[in-house]
Amino acid sequence: MLSTMQDVPLLVTRILQHGMTIHGKSQVTTWTGEAEPHRRSFAEIGTRATRLANALRDEFGVQQGDRVATLMWNNSEHVEAYFAIPSMGAVLHTLNLRLPPEQLVFIVNHAADRVVLVNGTLLPLLVPLLPHLPTVEHVVVAGIGDRSALEGLDVRVHDYEELLEGRSDSYDWPDLDERQAAAMCYTSGTTGDPKGVVYSHRSIYLHSMQVNMAESMGLTAADTSLVVVPQFHVNAWGLPHATFMTGINMLMPDRFLQPAPLAEMIEREKPSHAAAVPTIWQGLLAEVTANPRDLTSMKQVTIGGAACPPSLMEAYDKLGVRLCHAWGMTETSPLGTMAHPPAGLTAEEEWPYRITQGRFPAGVEARLVGPDGSFLPWDGESAGELEVRGTWIAGAYYGGASGEPFRPEDKFSADGWLKTGDVGVISSDGYLTLTDRAKDVIKSGGEWISSVELENALMAHPEVAEAAVVAVPDDKWGERPLATVVLKEGATVDYEGLRAFLAQSIAKWQLPERWTVIASVPKTSVGKFDKKVIRKQYADGALDVTKLD
Ligand code: ADP
Repeated sequence: MLSTMQDVPLLVTRILQHGMTIHGKSQVTTWTGEAEPHRRSFAEIGTRATRLANALRDEFGVQQGDRVATLMWNNSEHVEAYFAIPSMGAVLHTLNLRLPPEQLVFIVNHAADRVVLVNGTLLPLLVPLLPHLPTVEHVVVAGIGDRSALEGLDVRVHDYEELLEGRSDSYDWPDLDERQAAAMCYTSGTTGDPKGVVYSHRSIYLHSMQVNMAESMGLTAADTSLVVVPQFHVNAWGLPHATFMTGINMLMPDRFLQPAPLAEMIEREKPSHAAAVPTIWQGLLAEVTANPRDLTSMKQVTIGGAACPPSLMEAYDKLGVRLCHAWGMTETSPLGTMAHPPAGLTAEEEWPYRITQGRFPAGVEARLVGPDGSFLPWDGESAGELEVRGTWIAGAYYGGASGEPFRPEDKFSADGWLKTGDVGVISSDGYLTLTDRAKDVIKSGGEWISSVELENALMAHPEVAEAAVVAVPDDKWGERPLATVVLKEGATVDYEGLRAFLAQSIAKWQLPERWTVIASVPKTSVGKFDKKVIRKQYADGALDVTKLD
């Protein structure tokens, strides 16, 4: 028997229309580095998004399914693109501006982007690539930046503001199928070639509702979210869409992502929420330790994308800022888990829950698969690879303009679940603790050592700024951990001292023998520890390693 309910498609268009009317007064504030930031209301953004859609259709002939790329910082024009492009039935393709040039070329060609919207300040990055991007017909430049390098290139160049001028404020938004592509994002390639994930209108809509649930970020129109996580990193974790649903104000850093301007932004604009990867919070902590600032407006901070060291959480607790740990991936839109503790606990009882990756929402089903392919119990002890499925989880990767979507065996199970490549345990009450990425686990004499556990323990040392641990080949054990450590300024601790410190919380057989001090941990394009690079440096003999007895 079928239901009697209306079958209304879940569309990004609806989120746009809702945000620009019901929450028309909410604002996007973009940092400019000048005396005043730039402010634009949701109503204005909606109107300008409508003009942008008109321009894309009338000037460039953009049709449903065409890919329109953005190479932009987090700012209000980028939000306009977020709504204009999917609402007209085209596909928003956010480009990661930190990728190596050859990967960017690969991605733009693979997606066959027709138009690129670019911030003027990023032209030095785009211009050298353009001769290698045959599908790109139009470049639209937004904001300040020298445009002279574009002269003489075989591409039509437009100014964003001029393009919008005189356009109609209405658009006959098409009736789309909710399963149509709305946006795409390539994985950052931390562990392989970038692969395209294509989000549907439906997946974005449902994911936005989840972001807004109290068990996730749970913000309202009374909040301002400092969106540090880039709009090219899994749709800024869904925030631009979620904010238009409930009127949450956004504070956008544009290109001012360094610790000092971030600290100033927080003190001046007083956001109640922020979202960023651990590296950002490490940097900000060092900044406010040296130059104290009031960060206490931030009632809640969402931290994820890489494991949050418990010592970092503690340090922010002391500053009156509560970090809430979240796990996700490009393939999961990204919201997978969030670490809100169960109700009714004391602060002390909450702590073990807060340092997990968190609990799954109803929309995300999870299972753990052991090395022999069997499903493992949720007992907090049995470690296996995490597999997930749900309405905002990828079921395949984009196969290119003429190719079919593809499902590599190492990424999707035979019954269609996403293999996350993350290894961990789940407690009986559904809290996920990740011990490692499958590729980063250290296999020592048939036992597994968690690189993340060693890193967290090291980063709890008062003289350690950052630490990354990787597996290196060992004649006797197969693999052993190599600890690479960034010391704080003026630190006096030696390797023996660090090992003794680790021995307080780590089993003896897991303690690293190999140590090296480095200036900084190499980072990926989205700010995660780049262990590939460290392993290669070690293999090339580029690290000055001390081996303890
Ligand atoms: P890439 O896979 O290219 O690095 P993603 O941003 O999709 O790009 O990364 C997803 C991965 O990041 C996850 O599979 C996981 O390994 C890691 N990750 C994300 N959040 C967390 C977290 N809270 N704790 C530990 N690891 C995390």
